[in-house]
Amino acid sequence: MNQKTDTKRMDARTHNDETLDRVPVTALKGVGPRLAEKLARLNIATVQDALFHLPLRYEDRTRVVPIGALQPGRRAVIEGGIDHAEIKFGRRRMLLVHLSDGTGALILRFFHFNAAQQAALARGMRIRCFGEVRSGPAQLEMVHPEYRRVDADTSDPDAASLTPIYPSTEGVHQLGLRNLTDQALAWLEASPDSLPDWLGDSATAPAALPGLRAAIRLVHRPPPEVDLAALELGEHPAQRRLVLEELIAHHLSLRVLRWRAQSLQAPVLRGDGRLRQALRGQLGFPLTAAQERVVAEIEADLARAHPMLRLVQGDVGSGKTVVAALAALAAVESGLQVALMAPTELLAEQHLRNFSAWLSPLGLEPAWLSGRLKGAARRDMLARIRDGEARVVVGTHALFQEEVAFERLGLVIIDEQHRFGVHQRLALRDKGGQEAQLPHQLTLTATPIPRTLAMAVYADLDTSVIDELPPGRKPISTVVIPDSRRPEVVERVRRACAEGRQAYWVCTLIEESESLQCQAAEEAAAELREALPELRVGLVHGRLKAAGKADIMQRFKAGALDLLVATTVIEVGVDVPNASLMIIENAERLGLAQLHQLRGRVGRGAAESHCVLLYHTPLSRQGRERLGVMRATSDGFEIARKDLELRGPGEVLGTRQTGMMNLRIADLVRDEALLPEVERLAERLNRDHPELVPRLIRRWLAENVRYGSV
Ligand code: ADP
Ligand code: MG
Repeated sequence: MNQKTDTKRMDARTHNDETLDRVPVTALKGVGPRLAEKLARLNIATVQDALFHLPLRYEDRTRVVPIGALQPGRRAVIEGGIDHAEIKFGRRRMLLVHLSDGTGALILRFFHFNAAQQAALARGMRIRCFGEVRSGPAQLEMVHPEYRRVDADTSDPDAASLTPIYPSTEGVHQLGLRNLTDQALAWLEASPDSLPDWLGDSATAPAALPGLRAAIRLVHRPPPEVDLAALELGEHPAQRRLVLEELIAHHLSLRVLRWRAQSLQAPVLRGDGRLRQALRGQLGFPLTAAQERVVAEIEADLARAHPMLRLVQGDVGSGKTVVAALAALAAVESGLQVALMAPTELLAEQHLRNFSAWLSPLGLEPAWLSGRLKGAARRDMLARIRDGEARVVVGTHALFQEEVAFERLGLVIIDEQHRFGVHQRLALRDKGGQEAQLPHQLTLTATPIPRTLAMAVYADLDTSVIDELPPGRKPISTVVIPDSRRPEVVERVRRACAEGRQAYWVCTLIEESESLQCQAAEEAAAELREALPELRVGLVHGRLKAAGKADIMQRFKAGALDLLVATTVIEVGVDVPNASLMIIENAERLGLAQLHQLRGRVGRGAAESHCVLLYHTPLSRQGRERLGVMRATSDGFEIARKDLELRGPGEVLGTRQTGMMNLRIADLVRDEALLPEVERLAERLNRDHPELVPRLIRRWLAENVRYGSV
């Protein structure tokens, strides 16, 4: 077996006609099948993959730092003479070595050491150490540094470049990865054509960025004189060159989905407008200008014979539901079915109620499908969906399941889309029922993000923005209060409810099990019932049966409950206009977008609304800043932008864009200014060299090929 891999191994200098995306990593010395298997876990299968396995950060081992200039928390190389070494017997036996260099002194602390080490670390020796500097009880320390003896007159650096630290996995060490990239870089040096630069000069010249090969070399082996500050911020021109290419690859991977949709067929949903007219007539309010604009955009898409892939972004309360209902009716008027899907049972039920209220008078009863529908009722529902009797089907991701087949699905509407993955969307798309035709797809999201960022993250979708709230909405005033003042807050609930208003009390526990969350809500409800005996207190959480939850929500909506204690299950979509006070416990633990969603449950009626954010002391600086943002603004776009800055896009946008968020070197927030350029270059590459598009995508998104986008 070893024999075989040996003969497969190629020498860099004799195989310079291969491009590195076609050369298996086993062609490098020392990479046998066992290591190759481990490298596969890092998505390294080819020599090109090794070159695009980029360092996470760097350590500067090129400079010896005077001990007097050390900062705790930094890793550094120091050199000095040993003044004194001693064995201490505390709770653990340890070796303490006192080192000084004329600028300061420092202690090396070893918990594990043998006699030879002890002898080598004796008074009078000169050593060079590398490790993390910490502040110890008396003075600065390094615990278990790497060290070696030096002679008094050597001052040669340990490395000619900063030491890269790579993302790693069990059984693959930094030295191994460095060795791998050393070989790959040598290969590149010997045959530059093995790594083609597909962006060319016109991409990089205007911004004075280096070419691809120079950029790759620099990020793997930055020379000692490199601008370290720029490198650490990810703003070095070499990094920007790679960022640009990575973002182009991601953009293209999403665009490919979109372009493909243009070549696919979908039913033309023009309809006669009769049902839509009837709905508008009975709404009791005119649409806002923004809603009208978005409805027109959707209707134009639906009238085309290619599948719509449109995302509607609109702040909490901007009125997305009625826009979705109008789209649904366009499909029904054209004789096709509609599936409306929401991420939680509670939200799906609420859509069902809204749609029932709007559509029943038009003679259309929406159907319901959730995972909890069982037995005969389920079989019956599946049959009604299959034979087309159910025109509008509302549900949860149960709608994705294989056994659900539609007679003729014309439109899929997905609410709060950031919770669904790209794959799930594709799965629903395949439920068209008619082989040659795909349903149109409309997604709604209440996490508005800046336009340039949306272009990057949603490049597979057309986007519409409802950038206006219905008239008459009163701003919600928000206060931030420590939970030590909880009794005052309870009084406030009492007063609000005495005036006929309703209130939410939201219990949050993140990173805990759902059952703990439910328990916390149960305890809060019990306490509040005791403190507020005159109020009718309801409780909803994830462990309640769907019917029970719906019943409580219904009673709250009807005014039969004054106070609703809830977990974050009420986060999205719940609409009770008379509720004008919301208390959120442990608000500091939630993301801003989530707080904004929660807070959006109040301020839906005519009354002045209030939100109380309770936090547990002490509050971190970041926590203070985040809650401050909530107090200062209720603009969803601004909140989303802050949240992106503070937590990063992966957290804010959730799992949907795992592809987009698995970035190696780019950072959507830091690199936002590049995005227009990314779009321009991506379109150009696709126009001039469509054959390179799949190769560029594979270079950067090897692990995402399963998306079916490559
Ligand atoms: P969201 O965009 O958060 O999903 P909803 O669709 O739930 O918002 O709408 C919030 C509330 O505003 C609902 O009660 C809805 O009926 C109402 N609404 C929607 N559009 C308008 C409008 N143009 N004028 C007045 N009220 C509206
Ligand atoms: Mg909604």
